[in-house]
Amino acid sequence: MSSTEGAPAGVVPAQLLKGQKAMVTGANSGIGRATAIGLGRAGADVVVNYVAGREEAEKVVDEIMAFGVRAAAYEADVSKEDQVVAMVDRMVQEFGTIDIMVANAGLQRDAPFTEMTLAQWQKVIDVNLTGQFLCAREATKEFLRRGVVPEVSRSAGKIICMSSVHQVIPWAGHANYASSKGGVQMLMTTLAQELAPQKIRVNAIAPGAIKTPINRSAWETPEAQEDLLRLIPYKRVGEPEDIAHAAVALASDLMDYVVGTTLYVDGGMTLFPGFATGG
Ligand code: NAD
Repeated sequence: MSSTEGAPAGVVPAQLLKGQKAMVTGANSGIGRATAIGLGRAGADVVVNYVAGREEAEKVVDEIMAFGVRAAAYEADVSKEDQVVAMVDRMVQEFGTIDIMVANAGLQRDAPFTEMTLAQWQKVIDVNLTGQFLCAREATKEFLRRGVVPEVSRSAGKIICMSSVHQVIPWAGHANYASSKGGVQMLMTTLAQELAPQKIRVNAIAPGAIKTPINRSAWETPEAQEDLLRLIPYKRVGEPEDIAHAAVALASDLMDYVVGTTLYVDGGMTLFPGFATGG
Protein backbone atom coordinates (compact mmCIF):
# COMPACT_ATOMS: atom_id res chain seq x y z
CA MET A 1 0.00 0.00 0.00
CA SER A 2 1.46 3.39 -0.89
CA SER A 3 1.66 6.22 1.62
CA THR A 4 -0.83 8.30 -0.33
CA GLU A 5 -3.46 5.61 -0.77
CA GLY A 6 -6.74 6.57 0.84
CA ALA A 7 -5.75 10.23 1.18
CA PRO A 8 -7.03 12.23 -1.78
CA ALA A 9 -4.68 15.07 -2.69
CA GLY A 10 -5.51 18.28 -0.89
CA VAL A 11 -7.72 16.69 1.75
CA VAL A 12 -5.10 16.82 4.51
CA PRO A 13 -3.45 20.24 4.82
CA ALA A 14 0.28 19.48 4.83
CA GLN A 15 1.07 21.96 7.61
CA LEU A 16 -1.84 21.21 9.94
CA LEU A 17 0.39 19.61 12.60
CA LYS A 18 3.68 21.28 11.71
CA GLY A 19 6.12 21.39 14.62
CA GLN A 20 4.15 18.89 16.73
CA LYS A 21 5.58 15.61 18.02
CA ALA A 22 3.35 12.56 18.01
CA MET A 23 3.62 9.03 19.33
CA VAL A 24 1.40 6.26 17.96
CA THR A 25 1.41 2.91 19.73
CA GLY A 26 1.04 -0.30 17.77
CA ALA A 27 2.01 1.67 14.68
CA ASN A 28 3.56 -1.03 12.52
CA SER A 29 0.19 -2.44 11.42
CA GLY A 30 -3.35 -1.52 10.46
CA ILE A 31 -4.91 1.59 11.99
CA GLY A 32 -1.80 2.61 13.92
CA ARG A 33 0.34 2.44 10.80
CA ALA A 34 -2.09 4.56 8.76
CA THR A 35 -2.44 7.04 11.63
CA ALA A 36 1.33 7.44 12.06
CA ILE A 37 1.67 8.06 8.31
CA GLY A 38 -1.29 10.46 8.35
CA LEU A 39 0.20 12.50 11.20
CA GLY A 40 3.53 12.63 9.35
CA ARG A 41 1.81 13.75 6.16
CA ALA A 42 0.19 16.55 8.18
CA GLY A 43 3.64 17.76 9.26
CA ALA A 44 4.18 16.10 12.67
CA ASP A 45 7.34 14.30 13.73
CA VAL A 46 6.30 10.77 14.67
CA VAL A 47 7.46 8.00 16.98
CA VAL A 48 6.30 4.63 15.68
CA ASN A 49 5.87 2.26 18.64
CA TYR A 50 5.88 -1.48 18.06
CA VAL A 51 6.11 -4.54 20.27
CA ALA A 52 7.20 -7.03 17.59
CA GLY A 53 8.08 -6.62 13.91
CA ARG A 54 10.92 -4.13 13.74
CA GLU A 55 11.14 -4.37 9.94
CA GLU A 56 7.51 -3.29 9.48
CA ALA A 57 8.03 -0.44 11.93
CA GLU A 58 11.12 0.75 10.01
CA LYS A 59 9.11 0.72 6.78
CA VAL A 60 6.52 3.00 8.39
CA VAL A 61 9.35 5.27 9.56
CA ASP A 62 10.69 5.48 5.98
CA GLU A 63 7.24 6.36 4.63
CA ILE A 64 6.86 9.11 7.21
CA MET A 65 10.33 10.56 6.61
CA ALA A 66 9.46 10.91 2.93
CA PHE A 67 7.21 13.81 4.02
CA GLY A 68 10.32 15.67 5.25
CA VAL A 69 9.59 15.19 8.97
CA ARG A 70 11.42 13.19 11.66
CA ALA A 71 10.41 9.68 12.60
CA ALA A 72 11.80 6.80 14.65
CA ALA A 73 10.73 3.31 15.67
CA TYR A 74 10.68 2.56 19.41
CA GLU A 75 10.12 -0.95 20.76
CA ALA A 76 7.97 -1.23 23.90
CA ASP A 77 5.18 -3.38 25.28
CA VAL A 78 2.47 -0.86 26.25
CA SER A 79 1.24 -3.11 29.05
CA LYS A 80 4.59 -2.90 30.89
CA GLU A 81 5.01 0.16 33.09
CA ASP A 82 8.82 0.31 32.94
CA GLN A 83 8.81 0.05 29.16
CA VAL A 84 6.22 2.81 28.67
CA VAL A 85 8.03 5.12 31.09
CA ALA A 86 11.33 4.51 29.28
CA MET A 87 9.71 4.98 25.85
CA VAL A 88 8.18 8.37 26.64
CA ASP A 89 11.39 9.49 28.40
CA ARG A 90 13.37 8.54 25.31
CA MET A 91 11.00 10.51 23.09
CA VAL A 92 11.37 13.60 25.26
CA GLN A 93 15.16 13.25 25.12
CA GLU A 94 15.41 12.60 21.39
CA PHE A 95 12.49 14.67 20.05
CA GLY A 96 12.38 17.36 22.76
CA THR A 97 8.80 16.75 23.89
CA ILE A 98 5.48 15.09 23.00
CA ASP A 99 2.33 16.93 21.84
CA ILE A 100 0.10 14.06 20.65
CA MET A 101 -0.29 10.56 22.10
CA VAL A 102 -2.38 8.13 20.06
CA ALA A 103 -2.95 5.15 22.37
CA ASN A 104 -3.83 2.70 19.63
CA ALA A 105 -2.22 -0.66 20.45
CA GLY A 106 -4.78 -3.37 20.97
CA LEU A 107 -5.54 -7.02 20.46
CA GLN A 108 -8.23 -9.67 20.75
CA ARG A 109 -8.20 -13.07 22.49
CA ASP A 110 -11.67 -14.35 21.71
CA ALA A 111 -13.49 -17.24 23.41
CA PRO A 112 -17.00 -18.27 24.46
CA PHE A 113 -17.49 -16.94 27.98
CA THR A 114 -17.20 -20.20 29.94
CA GLU A 115 -14.09 -21.18 27.99
CA MET A 116 -12.36 -17.84 28.38
CA THR A 117 -9.22 -18.33 30.44
CA LEU A 118 -7.99 -15.84 32.98
CA ALA A 119 -4.89 -15.42 30.81
CA GLN A 120 -7.06 -14.41 27.81
CA TRP A 121 -9.05 -11.99 29.95
CA GLN A 122 -5.94 -10.52 31.55
CA LYS A 123 -3.94 -10.11 28.35
CA VAL A 124 -6.68 -8.07 26.67
CA ILE A 125 -7.28 -5.87 29.71
CA ASP A 126 -3.51 -5.39 30.16
CA VAL A 127 -2.88 -4.23 26.59
CA ASN A 128 -6.15 -2.52 25.65
CA LEU A 129 -6.94 -0.77 28.94
CA THR A 130 -3.87 -0.69 31.19
CA GLY A 131 -1.71 0.12 28.15
CA GLN A 132 -3.83 3.20 27.43
CA PHE A 133 -3.68 4.23 31.10
CA LEU A 134 0.13 4.03 31.12
CA CYS A 135 0.64 5.80 27.78
CA ALA A 136 -1.81 8.57 28.68
CA ARG A 137 -0.23 9.04 32.13
CA GLU A 138 3.33 9.33 30.87
CA ALA A 139 2.36 11.71 28.04
CA THR A 140 0.35 13.83 30.48
CA LYS A 141 3.36 14.28 32.78
CA GLU A 142 5.28 15.81 29.88
CA PHE A 143 2.29 17.96 28.76
CA LEU A 144 2.06 19.38 32.29
CA ARG A 145 5.82 19.93 32.56
CA ARG A 146 5.91 21.84 29.27
CA GLY A 147 2.54 23.61 29.23
CA VAL A 148 1.08 25.43 26.25
CA VAL A 149 3.43 26.65 23.54
CA PRO A 150 1.15 28.94 21.50
CA GLU A 151 3.28 28.79 18.34
CA VAL A 152 2.80 25.00 18.31
CA SER A 153 -0.77 24.45 19.52
CA ARG A 154 -3.54 26.07 21.54
CA SER A 155 -3.54 23.09 23.93
CA ALA A 156 -0.82 21.67 26.15
CA GLY A 157 -1.31 18.24 24.61
CA LYS A 158 -3.71 15.83 23.01
CA ILE A 159 -4.49 12.25 23.91
CA ILE A 160 -6.45 10.12 21.46
CA CYS A 161 -7.65 6.78 22.79
CA MET A 162 -8.37 4.15 20.14
CA SER A 163 -11.59 2.65 21.38
CA SER A 164 -14.17 0.70 19.35
CA VAL A 165 -17.87 0.60 18.60
CA HIS A 166 -17.73 -2.18 21.21
CA GLN A 167 -17.46 0.42 23.93
CA VAL A 168 -21.25 0.53 23.47
CA ILE A 169 -22.19 -2.54 21.39
CA PRO A 170 -22.10 -5.77 23.45
CA TRP A 171 -20.15 -8.49 21.62
CA ALA A 172 -20.81 -12.16 22.40
CA GLY A 173 -17.65 -14.25 22.44
CA HIS A 174 -15.52 -11.18 23.14
CA ALA A 175 -16.28 -10.37 26.80
CA ASN A 176 -12.67 -9.35 27.47
CA TYR A 177 -12.43 -7.06 24.44
CA ALA A 178 -15.79 -5.34 24.95
CA SER A 179 -14.98 -4.84 28.65
CA SER A 180 -11.61 -3.32 27.78
CA LYS A 181 -13.21 -0.84 25.37
CA GLY A 182 -16.00 0.03 27.81
CA GLY A 183 -13.21 0.75 30.28
CA VAL A 184 -11.45 2.94 27.72
CA GLN A 185 -14.59 5.04 27.40
CA MET A 186 -14.68 5.85 31.13
CA LEU A 187 -10.91 6.27 31.29
CA MET A 188 -11.09 8.76 28.43
CA THR A 189 -14.01 10.81 29.76
CA THR A 190 -12.60 10.88 33.29
CA LEU A 191 -9.19 12.02 32.08
CA ALA A 192 -10.84 14.60 29.83
CA GLN A 193 -12.72 16.05 32.79
CA GLU A 194 -9.66 15.97 35.05
CA LEU A 195 -7.16 17.41 32.59
CA ALA A 196 -9.17 19.97 30.62
CA PRO A 197 -8.38 22.78 33.09
CA GLN A 198 -4.69 22.16 32.29
CA LYS A 199 -5.48 22.61 28.59
CA ILE A 200 -5.05 18.94 27.78
CA ARG A 201 -7.59 17.53 25.34
CA VAL A 202 -8.49 13.87 25.76
CA ASN A 203 -10.76 12.27 23.16
CA ALA A 204 -11.39 8.87 21.60
CA ILE A 205 -12.03 7.40 18.20
CA ALA A 206 -14.40 4.44 17.99
CA PRO A 207 -13.76 2.62 14.72
CA GLY A 208 -16.40 0.32 13.28
CA ALA A 209 -15.23 -2.45 10.94
CA ILE A 210 -11.89 -1.46 9.46
CA LYS A 211 -9.89 -3.77 7.17
CA THR A 212 -6.82 -4.72 9.23
CA PRO A 213 -5.14 -7.97 10.33
CA ILE A 214 -7.09 -7.93 13.65
CA ASN A 215 -10.37 -8.88 11.91
CA ARG A 216 -9.19 -10.45 8.63
CA SER A 217 -11.74 -13.28 8.83
CA ALA A 218 -14.60 -10.73 8.88
CA TRP A 219 -13.74 -9.21 5.47
CA GLU A 220 -11.46 -11.66 3.66
CA THR A 221 -14.06 -13.66 1.71
CA PRO A 222 -17.01 -12.24 -0.28
CA GLU A 223 -19.42 -14.15 2.01
CA ALA A 224 -17.90 -12.70 5.17
CA GLN A 225 -17.91 -9.25 3.66
CA GLU A 226 -21.59 -9.54 2.71
CA ASP A 227 -22.43 -10.53 6.30
CA LEU A 228 -20.43 -7.59 7.60
CA LEU A 229 -22.10 -5.08 5.27
CA ARG A 230 -25.47 -5.95 6.82
CA LEU A 231 -24.17 -4.18 9.94
CA ILE A 232 -22.97 -1.07 8.08
CA PRO A 233 -25.61 1.39 6.79
CA TYR A 234 -23.01 3.19 4.67
CA LYS A 235 -22.34 -0.11 2.85
CA ARG A 236 -18.58 -0.14 2.75
CA VAL A 237 -16.00 -1.64 5.03
CA GLY A 238 -13.70 1.01 6.49
CA GLU A 239 -10.05 1.51 5.57
CA PRO A 240 -7.30 2.35 8.06
CA GLU A 241 -7.03 5.78 6.38
CA ASP A 242 -10.61 6.58 7.46
CA ILE A 243 -9.36 6.43 11.04
CA ALA A 244 -6.10 8.24 10.25
CA HIS A 245 -8.03 11.21 8.85
CA ALA A 246 -10.15 11.39 12.01
CA ALA A 247 -7.03 11.24 14.19
CA VAL A 248 -5.29 14.04 12.28
CA ALA A 249 -8.36 16.25 12.59
CA LEU A 250 -8.87 15.48 16.31
CA ALA A 251 -5.20 16.16 17.06
CA SER A 252 -5.24 19.50 15.28
CA ASP A 253 -6.31 22.91 16.55
CA LEU A 254 -9.28 22.73 14.15
CA MET A 255 -10.79 20.62 16.94
CA ASP A 256 -9.47 22.72 19.83
CA TYR A 257 -12.89 22.90 21.51
CA VAL A 258 -13.51 19.15 21.27
CA VAL A 259 -12.93 17.68 24.73
CA GLY A 260 -14.00 14.28 26.06
CA THR A 261 -15.76 13.18 22.90
CA THR A 262 -15.82 9.83 21.19
CA LEU A 263 -15.77 10.24 17.44
CA TYR A 264 -17.51 7.21 15.93
CA VAL A 265 -15.95 6.40 12.56
CA ASP A 266 -18.10 3.44 11.69
CA GLY A 267 -20.22 3.98 8.57
CA GLY A 268 -23.24 4.10 10.86
CA MET A 269 -22.67 0.76 12.62
CA THR A 270 -23.85 2.22 15.93
CA LEU A 271 -27.19 3.34 14.40
CA PHE A 272 -28.95 0.01 15.19
CA PRO A 273 -29.08 -1.01 11.48
CA GLY A 274 -31.41 -3.92 12.34
CA PHE A 275 -34.15 -1.33 12.91
CA ALA A 276 -33.80 0.18 9.41
CA THR A 277 -36.46 -2.17 8.07
CA GLY A 278 -39.28 -1.89 10.56
CA GLY A 279 -37.81 -2.73 13.94
P1 NAD B 1 -3.70 -4.62 14.17
O1 NAD B 1 -3.62 -5.99 14.72
O2 NAD B 1 -3.38 -4.40 12.72
O3 NAD B 1 -2.80 -3.60 15.01
C1 NAD B 1 -2.67 -3.68 16.40
C2 NAD B 1 -1.29 -3.18 16.76
O4 NAD B 1 -1.14 -3.19 18.18
C3 NAD B 1 -0.18 -4.06 16.17
O5 NAD B 1 0.85 -3.23 15.70
C4 NAD B 1 0.28 -4.84 17.39
O6 NAD B 1 1.63 -5.31 17.29
C5 NAD B 1 0.12 -3.78 18.45
N1 NAD B 1 0.21 -4.32 19.82
C6 NAD B 1 -0.43 -5.40 20.33
N2 NAD B 1 -0.05 -5.58 21.61
C7 NAD B 1 0.85 -4.61 21.89
C8 NAD B 1 1.60 -4.26 23.05
N3 NAD B 1 1.52 -4.99 24.17
N4 NAD B 1 2.43 -3.18 22.98
C9 NAD B 1 2.53 -2.44 21.85
N5 NAD B 1 1.83 -2.73 20.73
C10 NAD B 1 1.02 -3.80 20.76
O7 NAD B 1 -5.19 -4.14 14.48
P2 NAD B 1 -5.92 -2.74 14.23
O8 NAD B 1 -7.25 -3.07 13.70
O9 NAD B 1 -5.06 -1.80 13.49
O10 NAD B 1 -6.11 -2.26 15.75
C11 NAD B 1 -5.68 -1.01 16.24
C12 NAD B 1 -6.65 -0.53 17.31
O11 NAD B 1 -7.91 -0.27 16.71
C13 NAD B 1 -6.90 -1.54 18.43
O12 NAD B 1 -6.96 -0.85 19.67
C14 NAD B 1 -8.26 -2.10 18.08
O13 NAD B 1 -8.95 -2.56 19.21
C15 NAD B 1 -8.92 -0.89 17.46
N6 NAD B 1 -10.07 -1.20 16.62
C16 NAD B 1 -9.93 -1.84 15.42
C17 NAD B 1 -11.06 -2.10 14.67
C18 NAD B 1 -10.99 -2.78 13.32
O14 NAD B 1 -12.05 -3.03 12.73
N7 NAD B 1 -9.84 -3.07 12.78
C19 NAD B 1 -12.33 -1.72 15.12
C20 NAD B 1 -12.43 -1.08 16.35
C21 NAD B 1 -11.29 -0.82 17.10
